[in-house]
Amino acid sequence: MNMIKQNLVVIGNGMAGMRAVEELLKHESGTRYNITVFGAEPHVNYNRIMLSSVLAGDKTVDEIVINSREWYDANGINLFTGDAVTAIDREARMVTTASGRAMPYDKLLIATGSRPLAPPIPGLDLPGVCAFRDIADVDKMLEAARTHQRAVVIGGGLLGLEAAWGLKQRGMSVALVHLMPTLMERQLDVAAGQLLQRDLDRRGIAFFTDGQTEEITGAERAEGVQLADGRYIPADLVVLAIGIRPNIDLARAAGLEVNRGIVVTDDMRTSDPDIFAVGECVEHRGQVFGLVAPIWDQAKVCGARLSGDETPEFAAQALSTSLKITGVDVFSAGALMAADEADDEITLRDDAKGLYKKIVLRDGKLVGAVLYGEVADGQWYLQLMRDQQDVSALRERLVFGRAFAEAGSGQTAGPDFAAMPDDTQICGCNGVAKGAITCAIRDKGLTSLSEVRAHTKASASCGQCTGLVEGLLAFTAGADAKPARKTICDCTEAGHDEVRQAIIAQGFKTMDAIRAAFGWKKSEGCHKCRPALNYYLLCAWPGEYVDDSRSRFVNERVHANIQRDGTYSVVPRMWGGLTTPAELHAIASVAEKFNIPTVKVTGGQRIDLLGVKKDDLPAVWGDLNKAGLVSGHAYAKGLRTVKTCVGTEWCRFGTQDSTGLGVKLEKMCWGSWTPHKVKFAVSGCPRNCAEATIKDMGIVCVDAGYDILVGGNGGIEVRVTDPLVRVATEDEVLEYAGAFMQLYREEAHYLERTAPWITRVGVDYLKAKLVEDDVGRRMLCERFLYSQSFAQNDPWAERAAGLDAHEFARLPELVGA
Ligand SMILES: Cc1cc2nc3c(=O)[nH]c(=O)nc-3n(C[C@H](O)[C@H](O)[C@H](O)COP(=O)(O)OP(=O)(O)OC[C@H]3O[C@@H](n4cnc5c(N)ncnc54)[C@H](O)[C@@H]3O)c2cc1C
Ligand code: SF4
Repeated sequence: MNMIKQNLVVIGNGMAGMRAVEELLKHESGTRYNITVFGAEPHVNYNRIMLSSVLAGDKTVDEIVINSREWYDANGINLFTGDAVTAIDREARMVTTASGRAMPYDKLLIATGSRPLAPPIPGLDLPGVCAFRDIADVDKMLEAARTHQRAVVIGGGLLGLEAAWGLKQRGMSVALVHLMPTLMERQLDVAAGQLLQRDLDRRGIAFFTDGQTEEITGAERAEGVQLADGRYIPADLVVLAIGIRPNIDLARAAGLEVNRGIVVTDDMRTSDPDIFAVGECVEHRGQVFGLVAPIWDQAKVCGARLSGDETPEFAAQALSTSLKITGVDVFSAGALMAADEADDEITLRDDAKGLYKKIVLRDGKLVGAVLYGEVADGQWYLQLMRDQQDVSALRERLVFGRAFAEAGSGQTAGPDFAAMPDDTQICGCNGVAKGAITCAIRDKGLTSLSEVRAHTKASASCGQCTGLVEGLLAFTAGADAKPARKTICDCTEAGHDEVRQAIIAQGFKTMDAIRAAFGWKKSEGCHKCRPALNYYLLCAWPGEYVDDSRSRFVNERVHANIQRDGTYSVVPRMWGGLTTPAELHAIASVAEKFNIPTVKVTGGQRIDLLGVKKDDLPAVWGDLNKAGLVSGHAYAKGLRTVKTCVGTEWCRFGTQDSTGLGVKLEKMCWGSWTPHKVKFAVSGCPRNCAEATIKDMGIVCVDAGYDILVGGNGGIEVRVTDPLVRVATEDEVLEYAGAFMQLYREEAHYLERTAPWITRVGVDYLKAKLVEDDVGRRMLCERFLYSQSFAQNDPWAERAAGLDAHEFARLPELVGA
């Protein structure tokens, strides 16, 4: 029997409206409705979230299209773009548009989004002033970036910060004015807001906090921003990002119930049962919305209801926020701080690494999380909040993240995909839940990340959920899942292993040769690939390839760690943690002579001279050299320290000479270049005073000899070492150490520490290479010692003698590195 189709008219061709239509089409494929969509913008449906990436130059407008014209045609949808609906006549059940079209409806869906807020100040109409809401705004900003120099962004929330970063990426000098003392104050607590400001300040954005804008000045176009406290900021472009207001004018004029937004019930109906509303224009149970996650849920309910399924209901869930600025990792969800004394706040902070984590607990449940610098566990925290799970058993470990918390509680580390409910949201940008991904993988036989992206859109936008989607693919497709291709950087399609193999197989001896062979997009490379290629060539051709110091990060170029105030820290090597009165005298003299303000003992058993002025570095190195002290490579991707306990020499529990062995190890391994920093430790007995079980390589002496352990890490993601082998003699320890170093040097990816490397390749692989293959182990150690014969030069002595005076110069591509 032929059903007479009804007219469904959708006002608003944005994210919410089209998602509701997509959901409707999942229930019925065009049999119930003739669908007509009116969009005020002249574009097809696109991912508004990704406008920030378009502004920053990471994506093109074409790449953020969600549904192309072909999709509308294929689904029989009449799309009218650039034609805003101007009135709804509820009696006649008709909408009219700016171009004069009149369209009757049986069911109407309002999805008009929101409008940017503007402060009540003079100057808003001047050319050079815009908001950040749609493609037209981005076009205006890009035009200004091409023709002008100075931008001021008003508003230090998510949108304002992303606008500021995008404009900075486009070469403008950028100032940001924010009314409050700290940034993103509704999503971040003061500490995280300050870290964020510090990091963005270092990236060149100037901040004017506590700044109330009084006027945008200018005659022909914007010329500056005047603040109420007298501060004045010159500007050619002013971007307003102070907030949004639901777009409810049409609904109000049509007599629908409105408050802050268009009032809807749990079924997404307005006060007129034939009119639905979704997205930022709605108000549900007193709440309005500004993020996509709840909007996907609304669309799902609306699509089902429109199809005739009268069961689903919308309920707002806990939300999370993150920032789409490359290299700035921020996550927040729920409460920012304890509401009263009954709540528990637990914080973890490492200023030097720019890490901050805070969780808020109430009645044994997690109610808030603020993460800065390391956000991998954000979705896990969010799920714990949504599930209202009792986390009392994990309390002491929760702030350290999932792996640590669950390792200590006997639960599995890593996402437990089997236990994860199907409606767990995996991709926030595109609102894709676990169930949708696993269904697509199974039903369509998907085996690669790119296929999953193409079919489900999961991880196709900001990419933060890529790891989770890969995990889900491996879990669902098992052995059929193809590993994702990880490229070295955006300059190339080639991966680390591919390049390393080609360097040996094809004898490439220069960066240019590698870039030419693999068709690099940028002839000079970038700050990611240059240091990696430089390292791979150094490792492959010891004694032949000449290190390109300009392809190193700043600390390695200047052989000292730059500090937050622009001074340097200088750490001389103390073999195995041993020193002498003469060395201590020399260090004290240097500290006095150069007015070095802080002298500190480090966790790696050395002495750190902090606050050395850049100009003093060569003289400081020279004086330390005279006393026999050499660089401790505290800045290097190479061997840092070998920590030791006193062992049999002084300790009644000692089983072996741990200090002596530590000195031998350090003398053998210092000066090497490795993919990332390396730390060793030797403990004289299983009491393990030197903390050998959280080092890259740890030796624990036992009565029968030496236990060799590998892959530990004591940083924020603590990883305990894996046992490799027990040996009987010091010589064997040294051979294993050389072989381990060389295997790591030859096979790990640049910037991969031993812990993730071993997690990736598995400890059994190491055992096969190092323990079971005696010849292979010996050859690895020999190759290590050969390369060491070229590497063990004290860089301080060389620099003090005048070598590489250009050390502070860097390639333009490495600015900011
Ligand atoms: C730059 C930027 C970055 C963002 N980043 C994030 C993020 O990282 N995470 C996140 O969760 N959210 C983010 N958001 C918010 C997210 O984009 C919105 O929550 C989402 O787009 C809201 O969807 P919507 O359909 O309600 O509104 P919109 O996507 O704005 O769609 C509404 C559409 O209706 C049209 N319209 C209005 N009136 C009429 C009319 N009378 N007739 C016809 N058409 C009309 C509008 O032109 C618009 O195209 C970001 C927003 C912006 C602007
Ligand atoms: S690890 Fe053992 S040998 Fe070394 S100091 Fe501690 S107790 Fe003594």
